[in-house]
Amino acid sequence: MIRYSCDVCKRDLNPQFDLRYVVKMEVFAAMDTGGSEDDDSDHLQEIQDILERLEDDESDDIGEEVCQTLRFDLCPECRSRFVKNPLARENLAAKAVGFSKN
Ligand SMILES: [Zn+2]
Repeated sequence: MIRYSCDVCKRDLNPQFDLRYVVKMEVFAAMDTGGSEDDDSDHLQEIQDILERLEDDESDDIGEEVCQTLRFDLCPECRSRFVKNPLARENLAAKAVGFSKN
């Protein structure tokens, strides 16, 4: 039986009782093909070469630079915190809490 735990707070998630949220993030090198043709041709060729090399052998390091897919399991509490501040930007988090000294 597959057991899940929250990737943020590490608590166990029982599939029968606990809601489990899956966060998927894709981080990939942006390739704008619509713009000027001449300027970026070298760079595009470079990426093309990397992609072709990827298909040939298993060079994982380069692959993660071009495209990386991250997957996390979250409990309901961490999920609601995540959607408010997905990039963990501290300033925004502080604002979201809403400091009021009175
Ligand atoms: Zn959690």
